[in-house]
Amino acid sequence: MNECPRCQGPIEVLSLGEASTVTCSHCGFADVSVEHQPQREEPESWGEAFNRFYDESTATSDR
Ligand SMILES: [Zn+2]
Repeated sequence: MNECPRCQGPIEVLSLGEASTVTCSHCGFADVSVEHQPQREEPESWGEAFNRFYDESTATSDR
């Protein structure tokens, strides 16, 4: 499963937090595979909702 795509030799997997790096000591192959998914945009955070409510309340009182 873990074999070098270059020389099909044994490969080492180094975990660096969320990312994992695979290296081959035979040919010096190194690759980084990021497994964590990209962040999706939240529909509306509490801060944005509060700001929207605050803008509406101030827009009505402040002419
Ligand atoms: Zn290799």
